[in-house]
Amino acid sequence: MNLAKFPRRRYTLGATPLQHLRRLSDFLEGPDIYIKRDDLLGLAGGGNKTRKLEFLMADALAQGADTIITCGAVQSNHCRLTLAAAVQEGLRCHLVLEERVPGSYKPQGTGNNFLFHLLGVDGITVVPRDTDMMAAMQDAANRLKQEGRHPYIIPGGGSNALGATGYVACAVELEGQLFDQGLNIDAMVCASGSGGTHAGLLAGFHGSHAHIPLVGINVRFPRARQEETIFQLANQTADYAGVGEPISRDSVICFDEYVGPGYSLPTPAMVEAVNVTARLEGVLLDPVYTGKAMAGLFDLIRQGYFSRGQKVLFLHTGGSPALYAYADLFYSGWEERA
Ligand SMILES: *Cc1c(COP(=O)(O)O)cnc(C)c1O
Repeated sequence: MNLAKFPRRRYTLGATPLQHLRRLSDFLEGPDIYIKRDDLLGLAGGGNKTRKLEFLMADALAQGADTIITCGAVQSNHCRLTLAAAVQEGLRCHLVLEERVPGSYKPQGTGNNFLFHLLGVDGITVVPRDTDMMAAMQDAANRLKQEGRHPYIIPGGGSNALGATGYVACAVELEGQLFDQGLNIDAMVCASGSGGTHAGLLAGFHGSHAHIPLVGINVRFPRARQEETIFQLANQTADYAGVGEPISRDSVICFDEYVGPGYSLPTPAMVEAVNVTARLEGVLLDPVYTGKAMAGLFDLIRQGYFSRGQKVLFLHTGGSPALYAYADLFYSGWEERA
């Protein structure tokens, strides 16, 4: 595997920190918990999409694009970061937003929604839930082509083999840090959404025979569907990145117990995880992804899936700008309001 052969833009200086969360580990009385701070990646507000965009934007530029089109939910971190990358490259950016929760798009909304405007989005198309997002982006691309522009479509979450290569690169970065710090972890936990993060890490670990078990915590889909998505994408990514041998189905592990009533909808366990992590470690999680992933880690520890004496690494994939759109959940007890 030689990642240097792929064209890449650089949006982060150096490696993201790898830290021990001593107070949180003490609180849970289980394994030692470490955190990989991908919330501190570059571009406005940081987060995991920055790694994918290093490869995706290099491809867009190589193809002579002048406008990026991408899609996401109304509070999409991916849309914020894609727009920020486009701004930095001097390109325009058009967003197609899916109202996964009916009525949730507010033109003057806060959180990421506000940042779309601050960063100077070229245009926003809002579509109802369950729209074929690729078709909606194609429509937008056709319109822009008629105006003489050169659009480049980035799929939802930046999760194709090219974008997921950003997380193959993360696996390489992380293994170097683990070696430097003499840290031999037993497992890693990450949020599993559009899948590029989970699949890219699997491909990267596989490529270096790291044998680090990776647990994905679903934020949207049921287990069987998500595991199949990750399995397919991990193999496409391994193929693209030149990993060599295929990834086996049994290395793909997803838990869907922490989604709650649905994507982006709050759960009491998410509120607990966000509160506890903020108050014990000063680390800001988010309500849609990392809060639910951390709630999953809390529960897996309480159930004994991970236990004292082990070392577990949590991947912080970012998302804290979305917190501001959910502030009222954290002012009062969520159970009281529901
Ligand atoms: C997109 C996102 C994820 C999920 O990553 P995927 O690669 O889409 O699975 C996790 N956390 C945050 C904050 C995100 O924005």
